Amino acid sequence: MSKVLYEQDVNTEVLKDKRIAIVGYGSQGHAHALNLRESGFDVVVGLRPGKSQVKAEEDGFTVLSVAEAVKQAEVVMILLPDELQTAVYKESIEPNLQAGNALAFAHGFNIHFSQIVPPSNVDVFLVAPKGPGHLVRRTYEEGAGVPALYGIYQDVSGKAKEIALAYAQGIGAARAGVLETSFQEETETDLFGEQAVLCGGVTSLIKAGFETLTEAGYQPEVAYFECLHEMKLIVDLLYEGGLENMRYSISDTAQWGDFVSGPRVVNEETKARMKEILHDVQTGAFAKGWILENQANRPQFNAINAKENQHPIEQVGKELRALMPFVSEPLQAKQNKQK
Ligand code: NAD
Ligand code: MG
Ligand code: MG
Ligand code: MG
Ligand code: MG
Ligand code: MG
Repeated sequence: MSKVLYEQDVNTEVLKDKRIAIVGYGSQGHAHALNLRESGFDVVVGLRPGKSQVKAEEDGFTVLSVAEAVKQAEVVMILLPDELQTAVYKESIEPNLQAGNALAFAHGFNIHFSQIVPPSNVDVFLVAPKGPGHLVRRTYEEGAGVPALYGIYQDVSGKAKEIALAYAQGIGAARAGVLETSFQEETETDLFGEQAVLCGGVTSLIKAGFETLTEAGYQPEVAYFECLHEMKLIVDLLYEGGLENMRYSISDTAQWGDFVSGPRVVNEETKARMKEILHDVQTGAFAKGWILENQANRPQFNAINAKENQHPIEQVGKELRALMPFVSEPLQAKQNKQK
């Protein structure tokens, strides 16, 4: 088993004399750039003109074109949307990489599925925070961090691992723990996790519960509280102390219901579907579909997204959250600040 590393295991010297280009200033980009700068590293931001550029300049960064940022930096972290990375890489990054530079990612998708084929004279590593960018920033400001995985794809300098760990330290991840992985493992587990459990699994579970209650004639407001609102309260307990901690807090009636009914909802059949999802991730079938969907300008993505936004749970949720401003205020305030 690989060891989880913390701040005391990391030496940041190797990164102190290097300029880091953060390419992209979205969810991850703004968090990495701000955290690294506050950790004492030399950061420039590479962007095209637009909203993110204004935000990065307001945050006090030197904003350069992607090409110029890559030219000036020794370490280039690509924090563009995964589906745009290949085009920007070909046009502005690849031609400006110098031998001995390091190319970095926060997700292994484009390297693992060969959409980006880096030259053989640069280091290639990943530092993938296991949490959203806004938490990477917020936890850093609070003196904590979001755990991260790091992995080495190419080590030309002989220092790729040291650089990756110093980077992980710089964004605050080493406060929470960093664990070694490979591009393959990070990519496949990340895609599986978000599809089967975290994003796809959770939204489908919530909707099925909400529909079951409302189709049986119960009030949508009650169904919303029960199936969506309370999810966070349960997840917080899981996050803090695992299954046992959550079950300690709920009533024994709820715990008995958990034991007898949980396995009726998520059963061998569900697990067989999960194995199919994992298979599609591993074979590249999922990646191929997503790449083609983008090449076709996202017809299915847009149609499904529009339909999902019309779901009755979204309607009732909007009304209820408007009456609970404390629920959505922090995030909205963050997003306004970002604009
Ligand atoms: P994002 O969509 O939030 O931000 C993308 C940024 O790229 C924006 O600043 C945008 O202006 C900029 N951009 C877009 N097109 C550009 C172009 N042509 N030239 C220059 N800049 C351009 O992206 P994100 O969610 O932060 O994802 C970045 C990477 O981090 C991805 O590899 C993703 O898989 C990974 N990741 C994201 C999260 C997350 O919390 N969102 C978590 C872990 C890993
Ligand atoms: Mg996004
Ligand atoms: Mg993930
Ligand atoms: Mg992901
Ligand atoms: Mg209850
Ligand atoms: Mg109990």
